[in-house]
Amino acid sequence: MSIKKIVKVWSNKELIDENINFLRRPTKNVFFPISGNTKEIIEDLVDTYQSIPCAGVAANQIGYDKSIFVGLKYLDESIDEEELEEKESQADQNISQKNEYAENYEVYINPQIDRTNNKSIQEEIEGCLSLPNISLKIKRFDEIKVRYYNKNGKSIRKTLNGFMSKLFQHELDHLNGKLMIQHNLIEGYIDDNSDLDPNLFHELKMKLS
Ligand SMILES: [Zn+2]
Repeated sequence: MSIKKIVKVWSNKELIDENINFLRRPTKNVFFPISGNTKEIIEDLVDTYQSIPCAGVAANQIGYDKSIFVGLKYLDESIDEEELEEKESQADQNISQKNEYAENYEVYINPQIDRTNNKSIQEEIEGCLSLPNISLKIKRFDEIKVRYYNKNGKSIRKTLNGFMSKLFQHELDHLNGKLMIQHNLIEGYIDDNSDLDPNLFHELKMKLS
């Protein structure tokens, strides 16, 4: 259908309250069989995912109030995980770049985590299309058991770890109205070649705490 604009929490100079409020609202579950309206949302999510260098995009990041995200389906050795996170955080500086993993995607509908292995922890860097020009090192579960429906309505259960687990948790947070800045933050970095005012990061963190 169409490539949508990403709902962002800030421009380089100020917070965008309307967008922050929208992203904080939890999304609604999808009912099956999928309606025509939901099919259009899925098409927009896929089109948008394919047009931006990123690992995933959640429905509310393009303005829809549904529990769906589109993201990588599998990780293989061709994917440079760190580079992908960096490209995602800098996507609004490189608007001519497409997603080099455009054909590697899955539609995750009503995703949920069934179990976390609390002894299994990862601390990795994350970028987010809605928080452009920063990268955060965040503590998350490593091994998780998840379930979701794919676009054919098939229920899928998987055990994830590493990058795919981080991606699932990040996108599920979006659908639950939570931003990565609200997490167990270890370190934050502002991208070198951006004009982002560092105070915005602290302002947003205060606002959400
Ligand atoms: Zn994100």
